[in-house]
Amino acid sequence: MRVETDIKLGFKDVLIKPKRSTLKSRSQVVLDRKFTFKHTGSQWEGVPVIAANMDTVGTFGLAKALAEHRMMTAVHKHYTIEQWSQFLASMSADKIKYLMVSCGTSDADFEKTKQILALNSNLQFICVDVANGYSEHFVGYVRKMRETFSDKVIVAGNVVTGEMVEELILSGADIVKVGIGPGSVCTTRVKTGVGYPQLSAIIECADAAHGLGGQIVGDGGCTQAGDVAKAFGGGADFVMLGGMLAAHEENGGEVVEENGNKFMKFYGMSSQTAMDKHTGGVAEYRASEGKTVLLPYKGSVQLTVQDILGGVRSACTYVGASELKELTKRTTFIRVQEQENQVFGITKV
Ligand code: 5GP
Repeated sequence: MRVETDIKLGFKDVLIKPKRSTLKSRSQVVLDRKFTFKHTGSQWEGVPVIAANMDTVGTFGLAKALAEHRMMTAVHKHYTIEQWSQFLASMSADKIKYLMVSCGTSDADFEKTKQILALNSNLQFICVDVANGYSEHFVGYVRKMRETFSDKVIVAGNVVTGEMVEELILSGADIVKVGIGPGSVCTTRVKTGVGYPQLSAIIECADAAHGLGGQIVGDGGCTQAGDVAKAFGGGADFVMLGGMLAAHEENGGEVVEENGNKFMKFYGMSSQTAMDKHTGGVAEYRASEGKTVLLPYKGSVQLTVQDILGGVRSACTYVGASELKELTKRTTFIRVQEQENQVFGITKV
């Protein structure tokens, strides 16, 4: 047994220190980023915020709305090939570049991904997603995906340490997804005691990825726009959001009314709810590692997008970054007492 005593940080443990700036207005800040990917050599330009591949978040409806803002959606893996086919027919090529095809690591996932990608050559991203990216099997699967889909950008995760980021990039991932346990409906830390404070995971993993010409996605734990700014400030190339982009009209869930207030159900993909829905219940050998909550219904995602992007733009203005790309170079974090979590009002069910 070993104990590491270095301080590790979550979003709530820091604030970004203001710096002198020549920017007059937040409207001057450019949030688009342009990336060239390590294995494909291909390029992508857009706003690097991604809707999570959860069936209450990464829906076709949300993907359509976010693409208008040049933001990405990791479309959840439970749509059929026919549904994909119909959806792609309704999207122009310049919008399809904001979609990621999500999959797990079974043979069936592999075959389905192949079929979806064959529907439209403009589909550029694959998001290979498992709760624990540390297994040999997962690394082997990423290698197989790289061999099979040589021209597709592979996003793989989740992990939280530099050496595993390096292993995944060397095995064929262009982008590594970072985060174990920070998710708003995740119970991994409670159920297993495993996890890593998310801001430190981002800082350390970004450093490892950038050293090899790869990128990272900071995945999970953002509950307000300031957290998204902190994730970018810590070095995340992309930020993935679940709860913040859930409970909108575009997510397509059922709106329930309680005492005159409207709510929408949001649940983890390893929750009892998700497993009952997709795999016929929780297998005997495992515990659910996600919970089910009701979120206040937020209407159209338009205002949420404005709020998130406005917050990040404003953070850039405070530190004098005219482009999102410069935010991390201009970020100094100061440690603070844990802050109140003001925005994310979750009602447990
Ligand atoms: P949020 O933005 O809501 O804080 O976090 C979203 C992320 O939580 C997802 O992208 C995914 O990585 C993670 N997640 C989603 N469902 C579950 C779950 O059931 N269990 C765990 N451990 N993590 C989950």
